[in-house]
Amino acid sequence: MNNSGSALKNFIGGALTASSAAVSIPVMDPSTGKEIASVPLSSAKDVDAAVRAARAAFGSWSATPIKERAQVFFRYKTLMEKHAQELAALVQQENGKMLGEAMAEVEKSIEVTEFACSMPQLTAGEILEVSRGVECRIDRYPLGVVACITPFNFPNMVPNWTIPNALVLGNVMILKPSELVPLSSMRLAALLKEAGLPDGVFNVVHGAQEVVEALCDHPGIEALSFVGSTRVAKLVYARATSHFKRALCLGGAKNHLIVLPDAHEQMTASNVAASMSGCAGQRCMAASAMVAVGNVDHIIKRLCDEARMIVPGKNLGAVISQQAKERIERYITEAERDGATILVDGRHAVVAGKEGGYYVGPTVIDNVRPEMKIAREEVFGPVLAIMRAGTVDDALKIENANPYGNAASVFTQSGSMARYVAERASAGMIGINIGVPVPREPFSFGGWNDSKFGAGDITGKSSIEFFSKPKKTTIKWNPESKVNWMS
Ligand code: NAD
Repeated sequence: MNNSGSALKNFIGGALTASSAAVSIPVMDPSTGKEIASVPLSSAKDVDAAVRAARAAFGSWSATPIKERAQVFFRYKTLMEKHAQELAALVQQENGKMLGEAMAEVEKSIEVTEFACSMPQLTAGEILEVSRGVECRIDRYPLGVVACITPFNFPNMVPNWTIPNALVLGNVMILKPSELVPLSSMRLAALLKEAGLPDGVFNVVHGAQEVVEALCDHPGIEALSFVGSTRVAKLVYARATSHFKRALCLGGAKNHLIVLPDAHEQMTASNVAASMSGCAGQRCMAASAMVAVGNVDHIIKRLCDEARMIVPGKNLGAVISQQAKERIERYITEAERDGATILVDGRHAVVAGKEGGYYVGPTVIDNVRPEMKIAREEVFGPVLAIMRAGTVDDALKIENANPYGNAASVFTQSGSMARYVAERASAGMIGINIGVPVPREPFSFGGWNDSKFGAGDITGKSSIEFFSKPKKTTIKWNPESKVNWMS
């Protein structure tokens, strides 16, 4: 099933299905600015067709024992390993990141799938004699049709945050990938089919706002997960829950790294540089703001040296679009105009032989004040805004005041200072001397505040709560009376 390099179709009921879309848009290779495919902007009609196919598959998939469902995902994991190079190349082509970064994404998808394969062990029910001769047991049930909406920055990994866990738990799914990076999802659909997933259990509907709204509104969908910007996460959360759906919507980020004077110079400098520039800064876990406590000029100097070694096209990928490049450069220009100091300037980057690519070089900006736009808003590019603070409490005030809360890190060699900051930072994922503190399975992924709407997290053990519902059964077989209070 090869659907790349062409006009994409939806994947419904196990087959490539023409979209009812009146409009298709080009899919670009951000590293060259050249068109590589076109994607249809599907309609509510296509969503309805996918819901019907998914609902038709739900009965037999949910009745398949979980150990059998997990077998499909053992095979899926093996297929992703077998095709890892090809999957990474596809991510690189549609997203513009470096091949090594794309491979890391595929590896994370494999790790999530390994976790899903252990669902039979993790979700074994609970049973207890709660009174003499009376038992209570808890069994987990799938929800039904779940919809998952994903962003452009991890075309392989973010869909895989939900696919294996939700499906092993017995749900059926409609995925709406970002219209900017729709190719990887089609390849995943093909691998799931090859792994033996029954038709209709996994469906892909391409499109944008109209499809997302139809997913929020459709009465045949039980739950919806969303990963993307905070603006859209709020809209989607409000709309899906207004239709009484279970919803979990992950939003944007403005991650603060607090650097104390005793931090290890080289480790801090290279970690911060890698965090702000990896995947061209288009990670919800990227370092976006650094709060320098006291005199850490030696670390900032080393950090700038590190940043200068990060070269567009060599070890720094492209950003997603020309529009994104212009937006990022505008943030830098406005910061300069507002009085910040540009220490390393990545504007107007051009890669020889790829002049049409959307590149922004690593950018380090000092003397940023908390009220500046660049300190408050998510830039989503390889840009680090440095703010100065006199004390660690002043630094925490800056971190706490930003409305996001995905991640925060502290760099220090003092255990007690690390703990002090970790306890007080207002974020769901904390790094201590780690620039990108992504929790690994079985720990779950998710932020706080305006970085997440809804209870629980999207991966790890927390995903079990989101993608299933507990049934509590109370049992008594022997007609004894007066031996227990439940007779
Ligand atoms: P986005 O919000 O623009 O798009 C995300 C999804 O929503 C896409 O599938 C898109 O088609 C759809 N969409 C866009 N506008 C819509 C609208 N008005 N109504 C309904 N649906 C709409 O996000 P993006 O630019 O693709 O991704 C980047 C953002 O995602 C960043 O803010 C980043 O921080 C965030 N992100 C967050 C996490 C996390 O775990 N918190 C992970 C990855 C990315």
